[in-house]
Amino acid sequence: LANDDQLRELAAAINNAGAGSWSASPLVPGANATGEKIAVTNPADRREVVGHWQAADSATVERALLNAVAAHAGWDATPAASRAAILEHAATLLEARMPAYMAMCTKEAGKTLPDGIAEVREAVDFLRYYALQAREHFAPMALPGPTGESNQLQLGGRGVFVCISPWNFPLAIFIGQIAAALAAGNTVIAKPAEQTNLIGHAAVQLLHEAGIPQDVLQYLPGDGATVGAALTRDARVAGVCFTGSTETARLINRALAGRDSGAIATLIAETGGQNAMIADSSSLPEQVVKDALGSAFTSAGQRCSAARVLLVQEDIADKVIHMLAGAMAELTVGDPGLPSTDVGPVIDEDAKGILVAHAARMKSEAKFIAEAKLGEATQHGTFFAPTAWELKSINELDREKFGPALHVVRWKADELDAVVDAINATGYGLTLGIHSRIDATIDRIVQRAKVGNIYVNRNQIGAVVGVQPFGGQGLSGTGPKAGGPHYLPRFATEKTVTINTTAAGG
Ligand code: NAD
Repeated sequence: LANDDQLRELAAAINNAGAGSWSASPLVPGANATGEKIAVTNPADRREVVGHWQAADSATVERALLNAVAAHAGWDATPAASRAAILEHAATLLEARMPAYMAMCTKEAGKTLPDGIAEVREAVDFLRYYALQAREHFAPMALPGPTGESNQLQLGGRGVFVCISPWNFPLAIFIGQIAAALAAGNTVIAKPAEQTNLIGHAAVQLLHEAGIPQDVLQYLPGDGATVGAALTRDARVAGVCFTGSTETARLINRALAGRDSGAIATLIAETGGQNAMIADSSSLPEQVVKDALGSAFTSAGQRCSAARVLLVQEDIADKVIHMLAGAMAELTVGDPGLPSTDVGPVIDEDAKGILVAHAARMKSEAKFIAEAKLGEATQHGTFFAPTAWELKSINELDREKFGPALHVVRWKADELDAVVDAINATGYGLTLGIHSRIDATIDRIVQRAKVGNIYVNRNQIGAVVGVQPFGGQGLSGTGPKAGGPHYLPRFATEKTVTINTTAAGG
């Protein structure tokens, strides 16, 4: 991603990026910011205030909905190529300002420098990809028909789309959702996660600067339970694009279903996972450990794709566990703004509390394997040391705790199908890692597993826009995959136009 000199330059840029003065408030034409200013602190050191934000009140939510409805016809009538050109301009602006946006990812969300680079890059890629897709999909398509008749399929926006995003990819997922909804001709109300309002505000400002009209894209920071819920139960909303937990997706589904007027709304949801990595005895222990470590602990384990359980065939399990403990001792946990840091803080006190409680439970339910050392100056931040435990049974795989917590389970040679069935039985189906040098084993697992993204003999991380689209099945999401060829049409309506060309003037 970047060499050492570039990382040092970026680290310096982060320190000069103006943290302290950042702010976020609703971006809604005709509404005035009211309400208390809430301080945002750096997860790596809770004493540092990096900015302030103000939540939207109910009058602002109503104003945003009125604006979004009124602006839809004009935006939908804007040629797809013109919408695409604005998104491409936004991509160019974002790319040129990478250090400033990385700085926010580090100071507000605790992202390490490589994670911050990847985050901005992914956001840029989403903007360009959906712009390209809009140009391709939204040109009127000629359909076959009998002589004397012309048939055409046209795609258009659904109306008002609400985009609700999580804090763990506060720029990439936030911008990706918005870009898709806008590219398809919808007006957008974006509600960021409570933890990452500053990044969301800066991203929306950039999109406005690029040329998206202020009433076409509006920004509503606030609690999910108030602002998010008010938006999703409103009959004027035609669709919701959501990424976050499965529990919240269910609440939104219920809110949409409970509306007794308005259109039947679309829900596009990408949700949680209980991701496993399977290693058989033909796999290379060094590779397994490197990839399990990378998947489980990158971004402090706060990735929906992260491996939570490593299922190792018993012949190599002792070796893998021994090497895993050794590798964990080498991890540098600390300030995410330093080039030497491997693992930064978790997002907030709540996230840390969940992990601490999980570790306490694991004391009686599992065997402790290893814990990484917390680095210097971590005492004031929300850090949780990467930890690994060995579970007793392959039937205990629902372990997503959204942090650097890895669980290892041994399996016997005749248990391969049972292992895959146990993974399927969690009901989640996001990512799966496979380590094996036997093609028949790989094929068998791929065939049986009910998951969205499979990674074979490599790191179980990766969502490359346009190359490796991302998304799960079952409890992990509705599909289609973000960053994939079928995503954009879900944000659109289809209209056929059949013309009798023999009629006068036809
Ligand atoms: P969350 O569900 O708590 O919050 C996500 C968003 O939903 C936030 O903006 C929140 O304010 C909003 N929200 C909360 N209650 C709401 C309600 N009643 N109505 C409307 N909106 C509401 O999730 P989180 O903690 O921010 O994110 C972590 C979760 O996201 C994990 O489970 C992770 O696996 C998942 N995730 C999935 C993907 C994916 O692509 N599948 C990507 C990233 C994160």
